[in-house]
Amino acid sequence: MKKGICILGSTGSIGVSTLDVVARHPDQYRVVALTANKNGDLLLEQCLQHRPDYAVLLDTAQAQDFPARLQAAGLTSTQVLSGTEALQKVAVLPEVDAVMAAIVGAAGLLPTLAAAEAGKHVLLANKEALVMSGPLFMQAVARANATLLPIDSEHNAIFQCMPANYRAGSRAKAARRILLTASGGPFLNTPLDQLHDVTPDQACAHPKWDMGRKISVDSATMMNKGLELIEACLLFNMAPDDIQVVIHPQSIIHSLVDYVDGTVLAQMGNPDMRVPIAHALAWPERFESGVAPLDLFAVGQLNFMAPDFARFPCLRLAYQAIRAGGIMPAVLNAANEIAVEWFLDGRLRFTQIPAVIEHTMQQFTADAADSIDHILQADAAARRQARDYIEQLP
Ligand code: NAD
Ligand code: MG
Repeated sequence: MKKGICILGSTGSIGVSTLDVVARHPDQYRVVALTANKNGDLLLEQCLQHRPDYAVLLDTAQAQDFPARLQAAGLTSTQVLSGTEALQKVAVLPEVDAVMAAIVGAAGLLPTLAAAEAGKHVLLANKEALVMSGPLFMQAVARANATLLPIDSEHNAIFQCMPANYRAGSRAKAARRILLTASGGPFLNTPLDQLHDVTPDQACAHPKWDMGRKISVDSATMMNKGLELIEACLLFNMAPDDIQVVIHPQSIIHSLVDYVDGTVLAQMGNPDMRVPIAHALAWPERFESGVAPLDLFAVGQLNFMAPDFARFPCLRLAYQAIRAGGIMPAVLNAANEIAVEWFLDGRLRFTQIPAVIEHTMQQFTADAADSIDHILQADAAARRQARDYIEQLP
């Protein structure tokens, strides 16, 4: 029996890599739904190749013409939807077995949560959704007996290093520590006094990974590792102090688990997201991803170093947010999304990103995150605070 897949964010970097892997296994997967924000041209191309039952296009102007464009191209079997509720609708369709959550940012929270509540296989790339909703998301997964498979390369690596039959959300008792690797991004060795002037394109030129612009900036500030630290605490039920961030510039080891007997298990591979994507799509089996075998002689060396919190204040802020708990990770995430958006638009300096986040966090107390409504309110309030702060900057 083929499995039905819904790809939330099919036109992004993860979405495109997912379709690349899915296309290698037409005997195992059938594409039920694809969703995009604004890139109607790519969504059209994807629809013609994968013939989904549903295509969701959020941009309302483009969504109006989209059925006619599909028809003109000879595809009449795809139903076009628009509006944010459509994302939730396609994520819970009975014919959908697996949902790839690959929308970037808070916009992915409600459809990803809906997929978890519907008991789907949730392939989680959208780390912001988990960071925001934290224990509530994990409870929804447990309640609905959903299967949560991490796509973030580090978390997928950790998952692979966990004991057999491990399920996300439980604590592997014999696991003492997680070693969460980080490439260090494009500015690992840039003199600190030059960071003030870096441009969005420089920040997005990641040395090892080809990714969307938001996560690329997060990698440059290391907020990406901060969000991943929070993600790891939730997925593997560990305290922040049990997770050590390790800079490993080659990005060949994707993370490690340290066991009480002194065994350390690592997962390695070329830095290509099709590896974790194929792992999660085939789980608990394995199948081909299209990624070349790892050539250790070409890699030569693997290096490791401790992160420098003075260079990467965002990482310190993330530790602070997860220790505070409650709504604070959602506040951190919201302020970061605003700061990165403004930086990418050329309206905020790179070095001002952590200041925006720190200021915003100071405006909130870590109230309990006891409902999704409460989290969405905190998210909206933090966005307002972050914008107000940026607007009064000289
Ligand atoms: P991207 O910017 O390339 O793609 C984002 C996708 O989300 C696009 O399909 C876009 O249409 C859709 N989208 C954007 N805003 C939306 C909105 N408001 N409503 C609905 N859809 C919207 O991003 P990406 O690099 O593919 O990253 C996606 C997620 O995966 C992020 O959460 C990122 O942190 C995570 N992730 C990415 C990588 C990577 O290698 N790219 C690695 C690990 C984790
Ligand atoms: Mg990652």
